[in-house]
Amino acid sequence: MALEKIWVFGEAGADGAATITLEMLAKAREVADTVEVFIGGDGAARAAELGDHGSAKVYATGDLAGRMQGTCVASAVASAIASGEVAAPDAFLFGTTYDGRDVAARLSVKLGAGVLSNVVDLRLDGDRLVGVEPVFGGTLNVSSRFADGGPDIWLVRPKSFEPSPVGGPPAEVVDLPVPELGAAGGAVIRDRFTEESAGPKLDEAAIVVSGGRGLGSADAYSMIEGLAKQLGAAPGASRAIVDAGWVPYSYQVGQTGKVVKPTVYIACGISGATQHLVGMKGSKNIIAINKDSEAPIFAVADLGIVGDVHKVLPKLTEALEAR
Ligand SMILES: Cc1cc2nc3c(=O)[nH]c(=O)nc-3n(C[C@H](O)[C@H](O)[C@H](O)COP(=O)(O)OP(=O)(O)OC[C@H]3O[C@@H](n4cnc5c(N)ncnc54)[C@H](O)[C@@H]3O)c2cc1C
Repeated sequence: MALEKIWVFGEAGADGAATITLEMLAKAREVADTVEVFIGGDGAARAAELGDHGSAKVYATGDLAGRMQGTCVASAVASAIASGEVAAPDAFLFGTTYDGRDVAARLSVKLGAGVLSNVVDLRLDGDRLVGVEPVFGGTLNVSSRFADGGPDIWLVRPKSFEPSPVGGPPAEVVDLPVPELGAAGGAVIRDRFTEESAGPKLDEAAIVVSGGRGLGSADAYSMIEGLAKQLGAAPGASRAIVDAGWVPYSYQVGQTGKVVKPTVYIACGISGATQHLVGMKGSKNIIAINKDSEAPIFAVADLGIVGDVHKVLPKLTEALEAR
């Protein structure tokens, strides 16, 4: 038995649909007969890619021209349902992103519907959806479902599912008009700041080299950047060195940072606290360099090097440079 219909909140990535949108579409197709996307933006530009990933329709507000996704999209969806123009789906899926959380929270209030957040898996139990959420730093999983009513609103953690195109036809584009928002519509986006970064993005890179407190100083982070450059990898970090101000927050891997799933993850001077592990333990191959052979990171590592990062990293970089 599958759900009748799921709506996925669509977001734009650097080049087409955001990966999280495609990840959620893959899971939604498993548990619902019909999957549709709703977006704050231009639907025609997204129809082919979303259809290829199994979305039958894309409900689109049209260009929001600097207006906030949260207020516009939540109001548009709520008013389309209230007016009877569209039937409410059984469930809404949102990515755990800034816009996803903003729209989900406002929609929850407007529909009087509950939200379950931080979900890493979804499955069917009869005709109800059950979400799996890791707790206590990922050491336990809790399964939850909504008591009754609906529609259910789920916030899904990125990298929980694999995108998988199905070769569907372009999604039908349907207008999702934004109603008059009053004072709530007053907030506008005046400017956007994109942090400059060279090389691959942390959450999309095939190789990630992360540094932790074991580096000893902010200056020593250059060893991580040097190795990352040689490998065409993205540099990452533990929270300890983000909190210490050695690198920006955008580098942080873990529970309160980014979730990464690269082919190779190299943890340098990182102890392996559970809050760090939740962000990287899905990596295909984990290499850890730590001077303490008892460090918990070795429990998840495929290859462990017990040694001083100040000796191992320069040697590794030198060997790669010589190739
Ligand atoms: C609510 C909450 C959320 C959190 N979210 C995150 C998160 O998203 N990401 C995250 O990373 N953490 C997170 N933390 C923090 C986490 O609990 C740890 O404190 C943090 O991950 C530790 O960072 P670290 O491994 O760099 O430092 P430490 O735990 O201090 O480990 C340093 C390691 O370096 C080794 N070392 C020391 N010198 C050397 C050397 N010369 N050569 C080689 N190895 C050496 C040591 O043996 C040690 O294992 C969170 C904590 C809480 C409470």
